[in-house]
Amino acid sequence: MKVKTVDASICRMIKTGYVLDPRYRDHHVPPDHPERPERIDALIDLMTEYDREALVQIKPRPATSDDLERNHDRWYIDKVRSAAKEGPYAFDLDTHASPLSFDTACLAAGGLLELCDRVMAGDVQNGFAFVRPPGHHAESNRAMGFCFFNNVAVAARYLIAKYGLERVLIVDWDVHHGNGTQNSFYEDRNVLYVSAHQYPHYPGSGVLDEVGAGEGLGFTVNLPFPAGYGDQEYVQAFNRIVEPIGRQFDPDFVLISAGFDCHRTDPLSQALVTTNGVAAMTRSLLRIARDHCDGKCTAVLEGGYNLAALTESVACVLDEMGGEHLDDDVEDDGEITGAAVSAVHSIQRQFWDLS
Ligand SMILES: [Zn+2]
Repeated sequence: MKVKTVDASICRMIKTGYVLDPRYRDHHVPPDHPERPERIDALIDLMTEYDREALVQIKPRPATSDDLERNHDRWYIDKVRSAAKEGPYAFDLDTHASPLSFDTACLAAGGLLELCDRVMAGDVQNGFAFVRPPGHHAESNRAMGFCFFNNVAVAARYLIAKYGLERVLIVDWDVHHGNGTQNSFYEDRNVLYVSAHQYPHYPGSGVLDEVGAGEGLGFTVNLPFPAGYGDQEYVQAFNRIVEPIGRQFDPDFVLISAGFDCHRTDPLSQALVTTNGVAAMTRSLLRIARDHCDGKCTAVLEGGYNLAALTESVACVLDEMGGEHLDDDVEDDGEITGAAVSAVHSIQRQFWDLS
């Protein structure tokens, strides 16, 4: 008779940290703005209910001026501070500062830094920073697209400066191109920036042949997808392009700009990704982290404006971070689906070994 034993996979459940704090509601926006405080309420509700082994809540700290100045001009940081203080102030039609926006934006960047510290210390292996305002559109000297400070870029620079890391991989699956992140590292070979996004769409950048420049040539990878792409195209692109490139880059740390406006129900896009697609993309990136940097991976929230899709997708990412299903994907050596995926494959073969 077979003796039932304790499921070893449960004993091995990976420790995952998450950053969530009610102060992330304090950045106020005009009525009907999609990037609204209720996004944090929905995530607080989710985490009250969500149950997984080995989850650790991490208290955020504000990013310091030194942290921000690694990616942003000092005059610009001062401008955000003073605009917020005197707010409401509109940086553009989409990007509004209210009196606590500067503090909230510092806490957003700092929340991700704190999570990265905890991963580097080995307290948790991976994690998710549920912060707002988001960051990937923020340029070194310009607020735009709901973003003030580029949380993921600040974190990449911090990991390199504080821990001496040599290669940081940033993968951005928010449906909008992360122009700010791309520009921060366009001539930098220490940070590989990969973005899958709807194109044409806001902000208009992220075309196929934006591939980096100078020392950074080949270290920017854009996957501009037409409206209507969903799980099949995204997952194949991750398994056949993003994962092999990520492995060849051999990162010391994996950062995910996790926007869930690529979900099929999101009001700001025409992408058709489902939670299954989100889970598969997460697995692909976690496999890179597992095999190249002891699993070190943190996600930071970017967009995602349908609250049900946001919370369901976040739960999928946290499930996958537990690590039990990382190798579930079926081998795929068939034809590539989607002309845009084929086009990326052709362009990137100049720089990376892709089958
Ligand atoms: Zn977005």
